[in-house]
Amino acid sequence: NVADFDVPTRPEEFDWSEHFPEFLKECHDRQLQQQQSREEGFAQSSRLPSPESPAVRFVDIGCGFGGLLVKLATLYPNTLMLGMEIRDKVTAYVRERIASLRREHPGSYRNASVLRTNAMKYLPNYFKKGQLTKMFFLFPDPHFKTANHRRRIINTHLLTEYAHVLAPGGWLYTISDVPELGEWMKVKLDSHPLFERVSEEELAADPAAGLLVQSSEEGQKVARNGGETYRNVYRRLAAPRHL
Ligand code: SAM
Repeated sequence: NVADFDVPTRPEEFDWSEHFPEFLKECHDRQLQQQQSREEGFAQSSRLPSPESPAVRFVDIGCGFGGLLVKLATLYPNTLMLGMEIRDKVTAYVRERIASLRREHPGSYRNASVLRTNAMKYLPNYFKKGQLTKMFFLFPDPHFKTANHRRRIINTHLLTEYAHVLAPGGWLYTISDVPELGEWMKVKLDSHPLFERVSEEELAADPAAGLLVQSSEEGQKVARNGGETYRNVYRRLAAPRHL
């Protein structure tokens, strides 16, 4: 329901400074400093445009209680990342979790934040084309009944939208403990012309891929119960491949 939360009409309209106040201020100060020293020393390069202010690169869709996000925040301290969650109370919990981590560890966790929204509807309102480099879908709701399959967060139509906000070469990570949903996500991704499966060798070398199984609250629950998981990770291609 749009009335429940404000949604920007275009990504340019959204003010990220409330989400990443310290991080963005520091970048801004550094840019000013660079501009100043360019003006003082090098008249030539002072005509160069100032670098763009940093943008969110990683999103955790349906982030739940934020376990993945807080792991990623220290693993990639210079990357802005956002959890997106539809449940109000869960979002508030993650917001407070990040705020208290920021208080306890000054200088850390300032690159992570959370936003309450319906990610199946509003991603293009928040992110420009090709802005994201990683999208995570950890243990999404299975929607078992056939009549509800259209509610699954990985489907052909939404994959096209995810491809729009992902940069060419960006990765889309999925994991599930539900065999049928794992297979569903694999089939949908294999049959999408803008995605290509990432090899096991590449996954072994990727720090984020190692976090999928046990970092989130749902993943920890599955691991405690000794459950199996199905991981499917894909790369966004620069041009559609022939199927
Ligand atoms: N990823 C977390 C984890 O691994 O612990 C949570 C998994 S939980 C089974 C699925 C989460 O997705 C729930 O927190 C739910 O509220 C959220 N969710 C479902 N549909 C969503 C949507 N359209 N937009 C944002 N979040 C959504």
